[in-house]
Amino acid sequence: MSELNENANLDLICNMQKIYLEIYNISNTYLRNYYGDLKEYHTIDIRGIVKKHEIDIIEREMYTNSFLFINQIDGYLDKDKKENHIQYIIYVNKNLSETSKRYVIAHEFSHYILQQKQKETEKIKKEIEIKYCLNVLFSKSGEENACDIMTAFLLMPIDYVLPLMKQFIESQKNNYPIRISEWLQCLSYWMKVSSYHVNLCFQHIRYLAAFLYDNENMGIDDKILIKNIKEYARLFY
Ligand SMILES: [Zn+2]
Repeated sequence: MSELNENANLDLICNMQKIYLEIYNISNTYLRNYYGDLKEYHTIDIRGIVKKHEIDIIEREMYTNSFLFINQIDGYLDKDKKENHIQYIIYVNKNLSETSKRYVIAHEFSHYILQQKQKETEKIKKEIEIKYCLNVLFSKSGEENACDIMTAFLLMPIDYVLPLMKQFIESQKNNYPIRISEWLQCLSYWMKVSSYHVNLCFQHIRYLAAFLYDNENMGIDDKILIKNIKEYARLFY
């Protein structure tokens, strides 16, 4: 491989790290704003968090006749111009299970967060586009992917996932080796994330753990978290 190609690859990894760490910082700000800190375990109250930002959640039928796949639209973010303010609304397919609705709500809320960030940095009042939550696992753009990463961090904070992994592995110590599907089932139950979405969320948490581990002393000031990742590192192999 040429030196040029090696440098390009390093930049690519570096950019991925930056994206994950930036999304981690943003999602933590929103979680801390709601919970104060993340020391005490909670099933994330995503509906409460969204309502605190005065976004309405409306559950309704979603008609997907013009799409290829069944249930292709799970929800979308829209706005309603009121007299003196803009009312944001998250629409959710009412036929989904509550655990899937939680994913859709967090995903649409992530679009809202990214748009607020964009407004702050670009100092312009951008018109919001409608953001549909289509088939996750097959995101169609960088923004959709960023929203899926943020959804994982909002619904399954790494501060909770690490101790739960440890607890699960200790509870299974007479049954080694353990199937990863059993761990994911437990995680799905504990975090109230559907078994369909939990796999994707856990993959994003794995990347985050690796990037936090590699970025010790590089802007991440939560020493306890880094210590936990080191302690539980073997659980990620
Ligand atoms: Zn989306």
